[in-house]
Amino acid sequence: MATSLLRVPPPQGLLRPLAVPERLLLGPGPSNVPPRILAAGGRQLLGHMHPEVLQVMDEIKAGIQYAFQTQNRLTLAISGTGHCAMEAALLNLLEHGDTVLVAVNGIWGQRAADIARRLGANVHELLKSPGEYFALWDIEEGLARHKPSVLFITHGESSTGVLQPLEGLGELCHRHGCLLLVDAVASLGGAPIFMDHQEIDVLYSGSQKVLNAPPGSAPISFSERAREKMLRRKMKPPSFYLDMGWLANYWGCDGEPRRYHHTAPINSFFSLREGLAMLVELGLESSWERHRANCAQLCQGLRDLGLELFVKEEKARLPTITTVRVPEGYDWKEITAFLMDNHAMEIAGGLGPSVGKVLRIGLMGCNSTSGNVDHVLRALRDALACC
Ligand code: PMP
Repeated sequence: MATSLLRVPPPQGLLRPLAVPERLLLGPGPSNVPPRILAAGGRQLLGHMHPEVLQVMDEIKAGIQYAFQTQNRLTLAISGTGHCAMEAALLNLLEHGDTVLVAVNGIWGQRAADIARRLGANVHELLKSPGEYFALWDIEEGLARHKPSVLFITHGESSTGVLQPLEGLGELCHRHGCLLLVDAVASLGGAPIFMDHQEIDVLYSGSQKVLNAPPGSAPISFSERAREKMLRRKMKPPSFYLDMGWLANYWGCDGEPRRYHHTAPINSFFSLREGLAMLVELGLESSWERHRANCAQLCQGLRDLGLELFVKEEKARLPTITTVRVPEGYDWKEITAFLMDNHAMEIAGGLGPSVGKVLRIGLMGCNSTSGNVDHVLRALRDALACC
């Protein structure tokens, strides 16, 4: 009997119903997915080359162009999370031996430097303490000293809660013959960014933060300058899956008939489409204002609780993710566990260089409401009394 060959029994866990509790996700992401976006992801499948799916992809592309404020042709969503977009950006832009300057003031610069080293790039790091941002003259010094072909910088440093000013950076990079690559996974839709006006060459984000879609698709866009650098490559990019030449064709960015590259996560694209549609309906300016106002209310409430904000300068605070120092005499794990156990609410501890130092509270997209600010402040007040 064939069954006698079965040495691995059916796992009991899979014979029980799927368990997914209701939680308020006020950490640094993912954020809660509203019913409209959930419903989009639960629609019946279509084939990945069906015209209706290609139409959805075109709509996603237009939504990303709006969210990024760019006219770039080479604009699409990567089938993967924010890390996948980070890898796609770096491995398409960089060739073995290229010099890259990475601005490191938290975990995302560290990760980008790690990825660039794996690609055989000559990596230089520009360092700032967690909680600080880079001034133009810091960057200028690095560009003059290392003469990189690419600068990586994070717009919304979610591990520390810092918003990096971008004004003048693109122009500075271009004066030094360098391309500007920006991570906006945690900031897109929550803080102003203008890809074309700010002369950003490569910009990427994620689906699960302000866009309120499930994780698994990541908007990305390349300027003409970036495209030209990719066209000059001596070697093909070291990944087939993330080869921007192939993806450009699949996304209808190269004017050629679309060819099968991979089976896109179609339902993730349905959700992303709805997330972008909701941002378009609200409007970027209203979205930025909503995040600014709720972040300001949260910061005031945290101060009223006697907590110390980790980022000193108000203008350098990321409106989507707020960091406070772990209060003296408290264990951050007990506070996050208290909120989870008593309020079914997620907030997070630090990440990378901010571990043990901060608590992170995220208010992103539909989760950025005055009601949620009150809720998390009440929960924190309880935690400070009980932990
Ligand atoms: N960059 C930043 C700024 C992020 O906040 C994150 C996610 N926390 C990422 C990159 C990585 O994204 P993902 O977890 O979706 O791979």
